[in-house]
Amino acid sequence: MNAGTEDTKARLALVRKLTDSIRAHRVPATAFVVGRNTQSPGGEEILRLWLDAGVALGNHTATHTSLHRMSLEAYEDDILAQDAPLRALLGKGGAVPAYFRHPMLQNGRTPALKRESSAFLAENGYAVAPVTLDNSEWIFARAYSLALANDDRASQRR
Ligand SMILES: [Zn+2]
Repeated sequence: MNAGTEDTKARLALVRKLTDSIRAHRVPATAFVVGRNTQSPGGEEILRLWLDAGVALGNHTATHTSLHRMSLEAYEDDILAQDAPLRALLGKGGAVPAYFRHPMLQNGRTPALKRESSAFLAENGYAVAPVTLDNSEWIFARAYSLALANDDRASQRR
């Protein structure tokens, strides 16, 4: 079995733990989907696990590129590139994507850009999901992944 298969199994096991807990405690939740992540092995199964647990799926763009690193036009294309497959997937259950989250929570460098991106999202039926807690856990996940990749057990434990 190769490392990619192990990564997929680990991702699926993690999502199953989360969805089991969400289901057991009846937690209302929305998972924000990045299109490129659904193209990786296990991606479709992960979306199915979220949906089966009653988790809503929101749009987090196709490539997870910040609006601060691209034009508004390219950003809108990135949103729509994720909208179509999400809408098709949710449509099977009679739902539509309702929430959007900006990659890196960056919604434009200027007030005008913030207004224009907000207007585009509203025109396409999206509400920007509020963030009430940002725990930066991804920093620990990245450090842990590097420790796993380097077989660095001391760092994994720390
Ligand atoms: Zn993100």
